[in-house]
Amino acid sequence: MKIGVFALQGAFVEHEQMLERLGAEWVEIRRRADFSDCFDGVILPGGESTVQGKLLCEEGLLEPLKSVIEGGMPVFGTCAGLILLAKELSNDPNTYLGTMSVSVRRNAYGRQLGSFRCNEPFADMGTIPMVFIRAPFIESVLPQSGVQILAKVNGNIVAAREKNMLATAFHPELTEDLRVHQYFLSMIKAHE
Ligand code: GLN
Repeated sequence: MKIGVFALQGAFVEHEQMLERLGAEWVEIRRRADFSDCFDGVILPGGESTVQGKLLCEEGLLEPLKSVIEGGMPVFGTCAGLILLAKELSNDPNTYLGTMSVSVRRNAYGRQLGSFRCNEPFADMGTIPMVFIRAPFIESVLPQSGVQILAKVNGNIVAAREKNMLATAFHPELTEDLRVHQYFLSMIKAHE
């Protein structure tokens, strides 16, 4: 199993370390030449979505990435990665990949106060540690989309899945808990 980790900007190294601990191979994607559809899955890390979106366009990666996701390739977006996946941003006129049927609020907890840590239930896995950094949340799920809500914090949706797309507003890669990455790898195994 090989995962393509987008390494344009942000916290990609921490995802690579998680994959390594789980025994999965990974390769960094920075430019069009690094991109092929021979990965089994793709990770979009946290960082600054506006910068990442701009780089995806400039490097000619936006369209090929969108098309493999639409073709069913498993993708896991954390934080800025969730913003890139969203079909709608409630407080920003831009969208990027626009593949996931959610409306996302950027910097939803305020720019400075948006960084915190908590422990909350995720899917059917019990409680996991969650690290939020100037985080977005999912304000709403678009009607009739079949988006599955995986976690909420204070009533706000912070993790969801729609078919081959998994997204979290928090950073599991900044904790020691491997279970969210394991969940993503199990999505890939089910897809193979
Ligand atoms: N606030 C960032 C954005 O809007 C996301 C923060 C993160 O990825 N930790 O892109």
